[in-house]
Amino acid sequence: MAYIILNKNSFFNNLDIISKSTKGRDKIALVLKDNAYGHGLLEIASLAKEYGVKKAVARTSKEAEAIYDFFEYILVLAEIPSSKNDKIRYTINDINSIDKFPQGAKVELKVDTGMHRNGISASDLEEAFLKIKDAKLLLEAVFTHHRSSDELTSEWFWQKENFKRVKEESKILSQKYGFSTLRFHSSNSASLFRHDSFDEDMARVGIAAYGCLELPKGLQIDGFKPVLSLWANRISQRELREGERVGYGGDYTAIKDCTIGNYDFGYGDGFMRCCAGIGYKTPDDIELIGRISMDNSTFMSADDKLLIFDDARVVAKYAKTISYEVLTSLKSEISRTIVQ
Ligand SMILES: *Cc1c(COP(=O)(O)O)cnc(C)c1O
Repeated sequence: MAYIILNKNSFFNNLDIISKSTKGRDKIALVLKDNAYGHGLLEIASLAKEYGVKKAVARTSKEAEAIYDFFEYILVLAEIPSSKNDKIRYTINDINSIDKFPQGAKVELKVDTGMHRNGISASDLEEAFLKIKDAKLLLEAVFTHHRSSDELTSEWFWQKENFKRVKEESKILSQKYGFSTLRFHSSNSASLFRHDSFDEDMARVGIAAYGCLELPKGLQIDGFKPVLSLWANRISQRELREGERVGYGGDYTAIKDCTIGNYDFGYGDGFMRCCAGIGYKTPDDIELIGRISMDNSTFMSADDKLLIFDDARVVAKYAKTISYEVLTSLKSEISRTIVQ
């Protein structure tokens, strides 16, 4: 089976850049949802701990429990738990779900400041505080999410202003209803780097830590290095005569005699099938030929091992998608090895 190499130096390099902006490692809340963006949940959690990251963001309780020992604080983005937990905070995404959380649970209120996806409406803030009090939940933070932080428009500033009002109102409400001091956060990777002077309690950083942040000119931040590279092993090789055709449908026709190899990385492992037939080349300039099969794909190479990609952004361009999808498509069964 294909295998993944995780570069520790690149990861730490990225965390160095991030912690300069957050002004401290303790303000990084590393987003580990979806198997740490395909990098491997436990591998990334252990590296993050070694670096000194103390906060993590997960999607589910199951993920949070798997990384429980690595962090001091874990925020679960999208699950109503059946029992409370000291270290894990749960997100309130909808005003009508507040009474479904277990009494005494630590919660963070997500407020919709313009994305109109999850989160309560800003106009329902007081009602939400009341419901949280009635439900006997421990409200610790109020947060929001930007819809356009990676676009060169004024929308980021508009949402920031909306959230500023939410923060002011929340501070007043927390006093009025006897909640303790609230924490506030709003930034994902792209948003963090739009602040001149970041002053929130933490930033929820995903893609930048993995080295695949993509921003338009004018917003670009230099120095990030992709952490993940994907290698495949050769299963077989053959000599191809001019005119012979390769793979399902015989989609590729040899224009001259050549040697080709078939490697153990296919769409069943997370190789986006739409990369075939459009001239995909590996970082070493080796051409993918024919269709991508479930468990293998063919390249113009006979090397034992082949570096399929070392920057998910490049694959994403071929596949007309984003690096997030390329990375999270990688199956958890693929082995992950950390190198310096
Ligand atoms: C996924 C996610 C993030 C991380 O976003 P990146 O662009 O990868 O930094 C932050 N906050 C929330 C709510 C998310 O769902």
